[in-house]
Amino acid sequence: MPLHLAPQIDPTLRSALDETVLLTQLADAMGSPLGVVLPQQLAENVTAFRSVFSDHRLSGQIYYAHKANRSSALVRELAATDAGIDVASLAELQHAVGAGFVPQRIMATGPKNEEFLWLCARTGVTVSADSIGELAALATLVRDWSLPRVRVMARLSGFTSTGVQFNSRRSRFGVSAAAVGEVLDVIEKHVEALDLVGVAFHLDTIGLPEKAVALEGCLGALDECRRRGLRPWSVDIGGGFGVNYLADGAQWEQYTSALTEAVLGRRAPLTWNGHGYGLRAEGGHVRGSLNLYPAHRPVSGPAYLDRLLGTAAPEQRRPLGTLLLDNMYDLLVEPGRALLDQCGLVLASVLEVRDEANGDTIVRLDCNARDVSLEEHGVLMDPVVVHRTTPAAPGPAAVYLFGNLCLEADLITRRRVFLPSRPRPGDLLAFVNTAGYLMDFSATHALRQPIGRKVALYRDDGGWRWCLDEQYWPVHHRAEAP
Ligand SMILES: *Cc1c(COP(=O)(O)O)cnc(C)c1O
Repeated sequence: MPLHLAPQIDPTLRSALDETVLLTQLADAMGSPLGVVLPQQLAENVTAFRSVFSDHRLSGQIYYAHKANRSSALVRELAATDAGIDVASLAELQHAVGAGFVPQRIMATGPKNEEFLWLCARTGVTVSADSIGELAALATLVRDWSLPRVRVMARLSGFTSTGVQFNSRRSRFGVSAAAVGEVLDVIEKHVEALDLVGVAFHLDTIGLPEKAVALEGCLGALDECRRRGLRPWSVDIGGGFGVNYLADGAQWEQYTSALTEAVLGRRAPLTWNGHGYGLRAEGGHVRGSLNLYPAHRPVSGPAYLDRLLGTAAPEQRRPLGTLLLDNMYDLLVEPGRALLDQCGLVLASVLEVRDEANGDTIVRLDCNARDVSLEEHGVLMDPVVVHRTTPAAPGPAAVYLFGNLCLEADLITRRRVFLPSRPRPGDLLAFVNTAGYLMDFSATHALRQPIGRKVALYRDDGGWRWCLDEQYWPVHHRAEAP
């Protein structure tokens, strides 16, 4: 029985995939791997997040976390919407400004060096400060260079609550929520240089209870600000809204239970060298925990935000959205992965298909595990086969996907993949819905292999058009009717 993990493919992405002649021509011209981004889908995803804000009657801003993809087309199309952007490096900041973002629409997060801080302060970008030291360094820059007062957010972490019992995970980033007083001391000391506009958190989790505690913790921090006469007005709840990668929850259930059976030796291995994705057998029992992205997630993206805003605050027991509204606070969000849902795919060409003596079939691709980093991010999802001609052998084929690096570990996925039909050399595999982190986040020049090129596919005048990613500008297509 083939264990498929069919990807969720929405109509726009489906329509792009149906352009098989165009896709093969692009891969022939640009080489393998080839990243394909769909910038207009990003604009639609912004609209979907916006409608959750209006449903809860909240004002605020959506900052796209740039780090999820290096594409210029995506950032430029985003600049044509009303969204903002979250930049986490000097180069990302320069990129955003060059794409059309004015500083008022930019938030700088993550670890920062002096140059990055200086350019933020010089241009008037809001700085989400990671530590007390960073605030002090920023104040020094402002004073030494006679710069205007900088808008800052205080990023907090390590929240606790008397309303629920759980262990909040430790974070590298942010000041402990218990030490918010020290942050405010620094802000007050440098009040001529730093303008506190809000508090922030970003938790790399999709756990709702943990985020509810953090959000209520931020509301408490804002109360403390008011007691001191400071008037910040916004709460930034970071990213981590998630994506639903799989079309069918039953397939996910079947696959994960089959994996457990395989780890216990009750069925043939499903993975290369019996890899268990975090699970192992001990005395006939399965131990460990599944180290995978929960790929079937019906409540994700904007729906997850809606769910969070409707969740009761653990201590005050009223919906978090209502508490924000009652205080007239702005809600800021920084989705990366969720805003890139359905925004692209990676094409890879098939170099070889061979049957091994033990019955395994190997498909060797002209790309590596860093070009399509499904494995690194623990996302299990089948590729789509783009045949050049009608497949010779119809019916499913169970294959291992090897990459092009001279490295034992270079498997695109360590899972045996059940393709709907057997590919031939020259065919393409399309790894869909990979724009968020899975396309170029980890791509390197290892072995002097090129990093894949990128093209933007966009709709204009009822048809699909394309250009190199770096040549895309929103003016190439007609503006959407408001
Ligand atoms: C990475 C990151 C995000 C985006 O996270 P997603 O899981 O992609 O939504 C947002 N904010 C900060 C500070 C980040 O580091």
